[in-house]
Amino acid sequence: MTTEYLALIRHGSYINGQWHSSDSVFSVLDKATNAQISVVANAQPAQMCAAIDAANNALPIWSTHSGAQRSQLLSNWHTLITEHREALAQLLTREQGKPLAEARAEIDYGAGYIKWFAAEAERICGDVMEGVNANQSMQVVKKPVGVVGAITPWNFPNAMITRKAAAALAAGCTFVVKPAADTPLSALALAALAHQAGIPQGVLNVVVGTDAQSMGRELTQSPKVAKLSFTGSTKVGQLLIKDCAATVKRVSMELGGNAPFIVFDDADIEAALEGAMQAKFRNAGQTCVCANRFLVQAGIADAFVAALRDKVATLSQGNGIDNVDLGPLISQQAAANVHALVEDAVQKGARRHTDTTWNNSAFYPPVILSDISTDMHIMHQEIFGPVVALSTFDTEEQAICMANATEYGLAAYFYTRNYARMQRVANALQFGMLGMNQAVISNPAAPFGGVKHSGYGREGSKYGLDDYLSLQYRCIGTH
Ligand code: ADP
Repeated sequence: MTTEYLALIRHGSYINGQWHSSDSVFSVLDKATNAQISVVANAQPAQMCAAIDAANNALPIWSTHSGAQRSQLLSNWHTLITEHREALAQLLTREQGKPLAEARAEIDYGAGYIKWFAAEAERICGDVMEGVNANQSMQVVKKPVGVVGAITPWNFPNAMITRKAAAALAAGCTFVVKPAADTPLSALALAALAHQAGIPQGVLNVVVGTDAQSMGRELTQSPKVAKLSFTGSTKVGQLLIKDCAATVKRVSMELGGNAPFIVFDDADIEAALEGAMQAKFRNAGQTCVCANRFLVQAGIADAFVAALRDKVATLSQGNGIDNVDLGPLISQQAAANVHALVEDAVQKGARRHTDTTWNNSAFYPPVILSDISTDMHIMHQEIFGPVVALSTFDTEEQAICMANATEYGLAAYFYTRNYARMQRVANALQFGMLGMNQAVISNPAAPFGGVKHSGYGREGSKYGLDDYLSLQYRCIGTH
């Protein structure tokens, strides 16, 4: 029995360095067993307001810490997360459902952003330019944007927070996050470790509650919040952008995807199969960069499907804590949504290559469907489940046209051994991130983000601080 995670459980929001308690609570469930892991105080708009005030009060001091001081505190946080890796991973698996190996990988990945931005905090620099006139000098200085509000989803309950918080704190901003109500415990555990790391009160606040709309409104309407960073659905992102207009906030939006996974007949098929398994089945298909539409060149499609079916047949499914390949989806409702997409496709002529029987639980079986056509919902929506939906194409032009035929533009994958084709296809694809003969593309050194309805802003990489900094131009007379 794995119980290290119990020591990291907290029972209410972390606001101004203190833990909030209340008689009004909500339950956090183990997604594999539905057993209650813990109850958590249900924050109301008043707590969100208090967190915003705390972040605003902490801003003058935090933003005038030196880059080296902020870097040191972020490094302390990183060290503690690494030391508590196993407990954080257990907690994550229980409240989110993903297999333990994937949860450990998420802790490493999430901590990687803290390490990355701890280093970036020391490298913030502007410019000194020649004056246009002889008696002038011009400077450009980078300043923190101010208080940052963040709203994060349940599919990566640790890393979606660290990659926003670490960038904000490194830039000298203070931070208030509202995590998804399905997975508040990983967020609170991160706050507990930030506290232990010595991050000053008010600099990082975590507000957990079930009324997303009211708490979101506090964040979007507050004149004290200078920027909103959101990861979640396009529908909610659009609402938030609109709500931020009145106070003219900076916004970063990491929204939905509909990633194509293209396999040309000149590809290394074994590599493509391996990539397909990674890009489709990680987190049981519940990531915004998961392969959503498999586009396979007609001549190799039958062989590709047969080989993929053999690999899928080896996947084990069960409680993530038991180190299976596939855990449950986030809820029974999520599985029902996936099933509706599968049924719609089958009804409209999709061919089944695996059993699609679903037992009405949160566990959805891995499914392969081919002969997918544009009249099927599965072609246009994020599946967010372990379902391969495959269509074929004849020519490169056709593949590009099919891949771009979506309002989304987050990630795209393609496999070919032809170098000229790699360049042509990459130039033509309208996506923020490309996996070219590669299916695992996200890491702290890379700019994560999309175009079109997948949003704007980039997280990670040397560009990741830009969203949290504003430029001040200084024109200096030198008479
Ligand atoms: P998902 O499909 O991943 O659940 P959502 O966009 O619904 O995506 O949720 C992402 C985050 O946005 C969660 O923290 C959720 O609580 C929050 N959220 C959902 N609806 C709203 C809203 N109307 N205002 C503010 N936040 C919201």
